[in-house]
Amino acid sequence: MEQQEQEQDPSRSGERVAFNDDIFRKANEDIHSQAEMLAPEDFERLPFICECAEETCSEVLQVPATEYERIRSDPRLFLNAPGHDVAAHGWGAVVERHDGYVVVEKLGRAGDIVEMLDADD
Ligand SMILES: [Zn+2]
Repeated sequence: MEQQEQEQDPSRSGERVAFNDDIFRKANEDIHSQAEMLAPEDFERLPFICECAEETCSEVLQVPATEYERIRSDPRLFLNAPGHDVAAHGWGAVVERHDGYVVVEKLGRAGDIVEMLDADD
């Protein structure tokens, strides 16, 4: 139980990245389901919150609803504002670049955790 001296352990920051991203992901799932209830066809692009690992980030991204659904169907993929992927500190890599947003895949332990967190919904 003497595990408290591991603040620099990279697996800890991987967890932090994963948990923070999961919070934004859940917020975006709410936005998406509310928009769908209102008028599914009226939204070409929906406002989503940047899902980067920076807790204070509140950047809003305009993402096509169909793109959001595609990205969300993979538990390891997240929407980020361009350049915000650096907040993942190596726990994520940009896999797609689009107009106004990028798609980041979570790697290693962060990827395992986000997948696990997504599975309990
Ligand atoms: Zn961000």
